[in-house]
Amino acid sequence: MGMELKSGLLDVLFPPVCIACREPGGSSGFCAQCWSTIQFLDGPLCASCGIPFDVALLEGACCAPCLARPPAFDKARAILRYDDVSRLPILALKHADRLDLVPGFALWLERAGRRLLDSSDLIVPVPLHRGRLWRRRYNQAAELARAGAVLTDVINAFAVS
Ligand SMILES: [Zn+2]
Ligand SMILES: [Zn+2]
Repeated sequence: MGMELKSGLLDVLFPPVCIACREPGGSSGFCAQCWSTIQFLDGPLCASCGIPFDVALLEGACCAPCLARPPAFDKARAILRYDDVSRLPILALKHADRLDLVPGFALWLERAGRRLLDSSDLIVPVPLHRGRLWRRRYNQAAELARAGAVLTDVINAFAVS
């Protein structure tokens, strides 16, 4: 299937509506109203787990739980706060075959994780249990990893295996 035909078909199946409230006018993902409520986690945050801080602390500062009990990972980052608005596109990507959302999420992921990605050699998606993979038909983490690897110089581990 040609790309034009495919994207034409996608427009019919998924007309450009807001990915959260599904009202028209979401050509760039969210409509203006939903966009204004999305809380991207790009402010001051815990250097370890990435939880947002209300005020800017010193570079490298960690939250109290991370100080009390350092997590098993070095650093984690999230794109946005999970709430009533952001929940809908996330669930759509996970459970509703909305692979058209991958490029947008990959772009945000690259932005939110740029500093981590700069010092990384590989992107490895979290594996999905075989049963879940069968039901969902794709691993959304693998799709994001693939798209994220294209946006960065970091190699997607799937590409080298
Ligand atoms: Zn909306
Ligand atoms: Zn923390």
